[in-house]
Amino acid sequence: MPKKKMLEAVELYLKSEFQTTPAEATPDQLHTAVSRSLMAGIADRWHASAEKHQNTRHAYYFSAEFLMGRMIYNNLLCLGMTEEIGQLLEKNGASLDAFEEVEDCALGNGGLGRLAACFLDSAATLNLPLDGYGIRYKYGLFKQKIEGGFQKEEADDWTRYGDPWSLRREDEAVRVEFADQTIVAVPYDMPIIGYNTSNIGTLRLWQAEPVQAFDFNLFNAQQYDAAVAERNRAEDISRVLYPNDSTDDGKILRLKQQYFFCSASLQDIIRKYKKTYGNDFSHFAEMNAIQLNDTHPVISIPELIRLLTDGEGLSFDYALDICKQVFSYTNHTILAEALEKWSQHLMERTIPRVFHIIVMLDQYLGGELHQKGITGDKEYSMHILQHGTVHMAYMAIYCSRYINGVAQLHTEILKNDVLRDWYQIYPEKFQNKTNGITQRRWLALCNPELSDLLTRLLGNESWKTDLSQLKQLEKYVEDEKVMQELCEIKLHSHQKLAEFVQKKDGITIDPNTCFDVQIKRLHEYKRQFLNILAILELYYEIAEGSLTDFTPTTFIFGAKSAPGYARAKGIIKLINEVAALIDRDDRVRGKIKVAFLSNYNVSYAEKIIAAADVSEQISTAGKEASGTGNMKLMANGAVTLGTLDGANIEIVEEAGSINEYIFGATVDEIRSVQEHYNPNGMYHNDYKIKRVLDALVNGTLNDGGSGIFRELHDSIVYGASWHRPDQYFLLLDFERYLEAKKQVARDYKDQLVFAKKRWMNICNSGKFSSDRTIREYAKDIWHIEEV
Ligand SMILES: *Cc1c(COP(=O)(O)O)cnc(C)c1O
Repeated sequence: MPKKKMLEAVELYLKSEFQTTPAEATPDQLHTAVSRSLMAGIADRWHASAEKHQNTRHAYYFSAEFLMGRMIYNNLLCLGMTEEIGQLLEKNGASLDAFEEVEDCALGNGGLGRLAACFLDSAATLNLPLDGYGIRYKYGLFKQKIEGGFQKEEADDWTRYGDPWSLRREDEAVRVEFADQTIVAVPYDMPIIGYNTSNIGTLRLWQAEPVQAFDFNLFNAQQYDAAVAERNRAEDISRVLYPNDSTDDGKILRLKQQYFFCSASLQDIIRKYKKTYGNDFSHFAEMNAIQLNDTHPVISIPELIRLLTDGEGLSFDYALDICKQVFSYTNHTILAEALEKWSQHLMERTIPRVFHIIVMLDQYLGGELHQKGITGDKEYSMHILQHGTVHMAYMAIYCSRYINGVAQLHTEILKNDVLRDWYQIYPEKFQNKTNGITQRRWLALCNPELSDLLTRLLGNESWKTDLSQLKQLEKYVEDEKVMQELCEIKLHSHQKLAEFVQKKDGITIDPNTCFDVQIKRLHEYKRQFLNILAILELYYEIAEGSLTDFTPTTFIFGAKSAPGYARAKGIIKLINEVAALIDRDDRVRGKIKVAFLSNYNVSYAEKIIAAADVSEQISTAGKEASGTGNMKLMANGAVTLGTLDGANIEIVEEAGSINEYIFGATVDEIRSVQEHYNPNGMYHNDYKIKRVLDALVNGTLNDGGSGIFRELHDSIVYGASWHRPDQYFLLLDFERYLEAKKQVARDYKDQLVFAKKRWMNICNSGKFSSDRTIREYAKDIWHIEEV
């Protein structure tokens, strides 16, 4: 559809649906009208792309999370319609800014879900036949409010004003059966619009509904109540992202969610396959590749076997053989608590036939291990079923064609440590695929001024589909005028962020300070706690006058804590208490400031990242599998202040160590000190460490009577029943981190020197485009080609 037609369609839509005009319409009506009109405009292209994907070897990305963010701006960008729609709105006294009110689509927690979204974007842009499958949660990740310094959660009713970027496809609904209920999975399709290309991918999200259409006219009161209960029980399955799993009922619900979307997706894939090949499954593995994003969709493996054997009459061996060719598995973490395990008992109760198939898989695995000469304790430790639990990662490795880690270091740790035994028997299965981010959203969209500079210097927009083009711009590092311009762009982005933060969070931040940001989920291993302790020490030194030349800095935090994670919530409170302590002290006014920004999500990230000067990536070495926030920040000209962990290592390799601030213990150092690590001794012998930790318990900082600051203090100094003191080695890195922070502040004073570091980061961010990552998956894992 030509652009002019699309504009007319918007006006027509407003008139016919809402009896209004662009000038009179609410932001919400405008959003619906623009989105729906563009959806109509791309319908033919979308349909044609779906056919093309189907008719060639294609891949599916199975993920329990897709953190899509706000769709309207990105879709306008990819369609090249931003200006036209902006002008249409402005002609009528409205503006694109109206869409700032539109809710994010936050069907994910953090990095893993955002990665899935970036991958779909890249595949669509590269004309690769990749489509996504997931869950259409009614409530996405909670909304975070800060009250009295504490996190409060509110439900995220993201479709409250509709969901104009989805199409309900009731005609393709399927049934999913559990031991105690049968439900219907109804697909909702979202277009994944490639940048400046005709290819459009599909994200198909399943919604759980009752089998029986709900017609209350038919019921008497008793039947009505029973029907309501049944409907609720069905809808529960796609109601919330990560239901609380501290009880058995909660655990069963999660298992049901996983099985629900995997079964529905596989039934869908088989149905489409059969349209061409009928009952001949000999081409199934040749046509389909399925990527399992972490262990959440690994239940797909026994489910595909079930569908192919019970459903299609294939032999078990044949079905297993198909699985071993079709599935690949991405590991995202080496934290032991995240390697998913299910109680055999719960699984058997909920999906008995699938469990039976897992038992058979485990027997086959045992046979293979024996053949390879593995017996005894080692054999037992590799079984899928051990001591009444089902090890999902082991099932994934056994039945997958490939398994990959998400950064070089992470993959090495998997091969040599966490999954060592598996690597020894299946070395050919292991690969690395360093994560990436889409530069469409994370540079072109979120930082238009920097984008314009890059395009102007390059003479074209090629970097938007090939980020490595920016390497050519390195030479401008010696061009003071360009460096000057870079500084002005950053300053302007500071001003825009400051305005937004004032409006949204009521916090005043000074755009003329250095913006040091740590934005990511709150977790002990990510060490926001270390950051705030170091800030507290800087504050003391500035206040007492021992640190005199500190560059005025605003320390910006954005982080949600899991609702049941008491320590993480305590760290949020701590950050806010330190912020208040600093705000009260005239001695440090204008020199140091802490701002905790509430409800960190994709849309907030876009604004913070454009304005960041320093990117805090300070996880304990060996704990952060990759990180992707680090990549977004790098591409926007923030320097990394980080440990040698995850993709930080590759960032330093690309941009050069003189352009980053690397500090702290390496994986090897941590391994060697582990045995005799004595944080209690450090606490008593180091007055800086002592005074910042004491502030938690001597009345300096107030945790509102919750006792959580004492708990945080003790977790470092004494440990707890389930862990040694300071298990994430904050004190080991404290002094070196503090020094690195001071070095940043010194260097920041010379804006030209700092601009050069920024520039080297931007120009060398090419490797971290998810286009590069997706090309590698396409070539080395999925074996798919452009359509
Ligand atoms: C990129 C992103 C993340 C991941 O950040 P890390 O620093 O890699 O943990 C989390 N949340 C949102 C909203 C993001 O955009």
